[in-house]
Formats: sequence, C-alpha cells, structure tokens
Amino acid sequence: MSGQTLLPGSSANGQQTTLGVMGGGQLGRMFVQAAQAMGYFTVVLDPDVVSPAGLVSHYHVQTDYLDEQGLSQLMQRCAAITTEFENVPAPALMTLGAARPVAPNAHAVGIAQDRVKEKAHFVRCGVPCAPYAVIETATQLAAVPDDLLPGIVKTARLGYDGKGQIRVKNRTELAAAWDSLKGVTCVLEKMLPLKSECSVIVARGADGTCVNLPVQLNLHREGILAVTEVYEGNIPAALAERAVEATKSIAEELQYVGVLCVEFFVLQDDTLIVNEMAPRPHNSGHYSMNACDLSQFELQVRTLAGLPLVQPRQHSPAVMLNLLGDLWVDGQSPAWDQILALPGTHLHLYGKLKANKGRKMGHLTITGATMPEVRATALAAAAILGIEAF
Ligand code: ADP
Ligand code: MG
Repeated sequence: MSGQTLLPGSSANGQQTTLGVMGGGQLGRMFVQAAQAMGYFTVVLDPDVVSPAGLVSHYHVQTDYLDEQGLSQLMQRCAAITTEFENVPAPALMTLGAARPVAPNAHAVGIAQDRVKEKAHFVRCGVPCAPYAVIETATQLAAVPDDLLPGIVKTARLGYDGKGQIRVKNRTELAAAWDSLKGVTCVLEKMLPLKSECSVIVARGADGTCVNLPVQLNLHREGILAVTEVYEGNIPAALAERAVEATKSIAEELQYVGVLCVEFFVLQDDTLIVNEMAPRPHNSGHYSMNACDLSQFELQVRTLAGLPLVQPRQHSPAVMLNLLGDLWVDGQSPAWDQILALPGTHLHLYGKLKANKGRKMGHLTITGATMPEVRATALAAAAILGIEAF
C-alpha cells in the first residue's frame, strides 16, 4: 500500500474518486455508506444480485471473487480496494494488489483467514492464546495431549459465528468431531473458564500511525455475538490497557494497513488470552457509528484513502444488541415503532430480505447520558424484541 492520499470528493481523468470493496455483506454496506457520506463513489464486488452492500453502492460488479473480468472491472472503477470479510481468496487480493493499493493486503488477510497461521502470529507477537494443537493427520489426532480436553475443535479455515466448531469432552468425541468435519485441518483448543470476552479495534495507516476504539465487552450466545457494552470501566483498566497494547503489537508486527479487530478472552483469574482476529471492521464495533466521533467504518475509509488518523473519542456510553433472524416470527418484523419510541435508540437494518435463524439482519445501538440509563433502555428494548436479558 503506497502512501498516496485520495481526497474525498475529488476526481481524476473525469472519474470521481471511487473506493472499492471485496464482499457485499453488511460490513461492506456500512463501509460504502461511510465512504459515500464523505463524498466518495463506491464499487462493490459480490456475486449476489441482492447483496446488502451492492444494493447501496454506486457500482456493483456482480461476479465471483476470483473472476478475472470482475476483478479487472473493479480495478478500472476504483482507486483503492478494501475487503469486508476475511474469506476473500488471497489470490484475488494479490491480483488487485499488483495494480491498486489494497488494504489490508493479501498477506495479512491470508494469516487472518487461517487459524493455524493466526495463532502462530500471536505467538510471534508474544501474546498468549489458548493452549492448542494442530490436527492435520490421524497421527496428530492420536498425539493430542490429554491436557487439551475438554476442548473445542475448530476448522482452520472458513469458520464464523461458531460454525465449523465442535465441543468435545474426550478422545472418542474428538475423533468423531474431526471425522464429521471431514478430516480438514483443524485446531483443538483447550476449553477455558471464561469470565468475559472483549475485543479491540485498531486502525493503522501506511505511515504506521495506529489509533484505537475503546475496549468492547462482548456477550456471545450460541457462538454468535449477542450484546456489546462499551463504557468506562466495562473491564478493569489494567486489562483494557493490555488488550489495546496487544492489539497494536499484532497490527504492528504485520505492518498492517486498515482496520483490525482482535477478540480476547478474560479468564476467571483475570488472565488475558487472545482468541482470534478479523482483518476488517467487526460486529463488536458497530456501536462506534453512534457513540464515537469516528466510527470503525470511517476509520476504514481513512486508512484506505490515506487520510490522517486521529484518536477516536467515545462521546456516549453504548449498548449494542445484535438483531438476528430469530426475532422475525412468522416473517413478521419486530415492533420497531415501540423500539424507536425509546430514547437514544439507533436502528440499523441491512436490507436482507430473508430472516433465517442466526442470520445477522441488523443491530440496535442505545446511547445516553449515563450507563445505568443506557442499560435500562437496552433491557427495555431487549424485552420488546424477545432477546433474553443480559
Ligand atoms: P468464530 O470464528 O465463530 O467467532 P471463535 O473462535 O471466536 O469463533 O469462537 C466463538 C465463541 O466460542 C467465542 O466467542 C467463545 O464464546 C467460545 N469459545 C471459543 N473458543 C473457546 C475456548 N477455547 N474456551 C472457551 N470458550 C471458547
Ligand atoms: Mg469469534
């Protein structure tokens, strides 16, 4: 990624400065919306005719991620390219990277999309992760130390929202789990006693400047993020500081350019353990759109366009509730009128037509003057939506 600056609202050779994104999901949609608000044109590459981002972008290249013509059209349309999900094939990013600034680059995305490489990277950075073993062969399966059980088998690639993961208590279950995952490369991770989970989002520029959003406290249900709470003191200050430092070192070591999210476990004894990273904005950072003076998507635009990075400031405590397809009963939308009648609610829907169970349909952020107030409103909203109290 070169150090060039793409100023918003500018044009060159009669073409408006356009930013591109690989992937058309909700993260791409919110990136596109942030870029457009600043005066950029946008182009999305996604095979789906009704992708959330494709629907709101100026241009939509509707091809597969590895389609040569599609990649070439994307490059012609835009001045720089980012990605909204980590499973964009690395070869596609390499093709793009040869002709345009791409942030994050193929190398960083390649590490984040493979749990084995990702864990090796954490170890390199001196940030502790859960004890684990790589399982690629039956011999490795047999050689797994007893100490890792009970544990969680996770596929090295393509897992998300708890998919591609199986919890196992003993060797028999472990062997059955690996079998049911069709013998693909996996890691077995020791099951840890979690007190809480948190995440940190940083944005790093080509010049090495690195800024961060405040630490997010996350509640997962059935492997999917359910609630994020961000306020002063959500986790002990010393832990928060360590999490931010660890995230910055993980980004620095990769010479990362773009927005990076790192997820952590906090154990019962307050040990901080790194879980995984995402080379893009993250579900746990959505609150920043309404509670901070710079959102994670504005930060993504800035890193991509080579604009100055300044430290974001949170101006309101916030709770974010994920709106999963489960809340749509018999195809009926939740009672948005009741939700919007509550003070400080910000509704974001992603334009998805079908509300399947576990599908991320939108999110609701609640802001207010004080945390008790925000929490009370968030609990009232959860009750209306049928989300279990937290
Ligand atoms: P995904 O890519 O699906 O987000 P994660 O590895 O983050 O996968 O796992 C999803 C959730 O499962 C975590 O947020 C956490 O709640 C739980 N989990 C994962 N690994 C462990 C572990 N080693 N010990 C305890 N809980 C875990
Ligand atoms: Mg995760």
